[in-house]
Amino acid sequence: MGLLLASCATPGKSSSLGRDVYGHRPGPQGFRTVIIDAGHGGKDSGAVSAHTRQKEKDLALDTAQRIAKQLQGDFKVIMMRGDDTFIDLDERVIRANRHGEAILISVHYNSGPSSIRGPETYYWRVDSHGLATRLQRAMASASPAENGNRGLVRRRVRLTRNPEIPCVLLEGGYLSNAAESQLISDLGYRQKLAVNIASAIRTQAAIGDQGTGPLPRPIDSPPSRPTDAPE
Ligand SMILES: [Zn+2]
Repeated sequence: MGLLLASCATPGKSSSLGRDVYGHRPGPQGFRTVIIDAGHGGKDSGAVSAHTRQKEKDLALDTAQRIAKQLQGDFKVIMMRGDDTFIDLDERVIRANRHGEAILISVHYNSGPSSIRGPETYYWRVDSHGLATRLQRAMASASPAENGNRGLVRRRVRLTRNPEIPCVLLEGGYLSNAAESQLISDLGYRQKLAVNIASAIRTQAAIGDQGTGPLPRPIDSPPSRPTDAPE
C-alpha cells in the first residue's frame, strides 16, 4: 500500500523534484531552492590546518557565503548556518527536509595524510549522482592538482543518505597538505571555487543529469547513524 501511494504521488513520470526517502530517481532539474550547509561550527571546529592555523568551520562558512552570493537572485538560497553556530548533523537533516523541491550542498574542507590533496565530492543517493559529478568537475577545474584523493565518492554519511532531497557533500581540498592549505587560505581561490560550484548548480537546474554519465545502482540502505563511521 505504501509503495502504491508513493508511485501515485508522481503519476506518469519519474519527477526528480519533491521529497523522496531513498532517492532512487534521476537527478533534479528545474529546482529553485538551494540549501547551503557550512560544515561544523561553534564548538565543532572541524579540521584545523597545522600550516595556516585556519579552522575548517570558518573556511566552510566563508565558502558557503560566497556560493550563496553567486546564486542569489536566481535561486531561493537557504543557509543552514550564517554564523559560528553548532548544529547537530541530525538537526541539519531535519531542517533540510522542511523543503520539498530543493537541493542540499554541504561545504567542508578535508584532512588526511599530508601528501594527499585536491577536492573530493561525496554522494549516496541516485538522484544526487549527476549533481555530484558536476560539482566535482567544477572544483577540480579550479584546483591546480589532485594527488592521491578519491575524487567522486559514493559514501553513506548522514548528509548524503538521510535528507529526502538530492544532497552532496563537498570537500574543497586538504587542510593537511601544506601547499593546498596555503591555497585555500587565499580568498581569491575560495572565490573561484564558489563561482565554479554555483555555475555547476545552475547547469544542473537547467539540464538535469544530461552529460553526467549513467546513474549508479540503487541501494536500499538504512539511514546513516552517528555510530556508523566518522563523518
Ligand atoms: Zn568537515
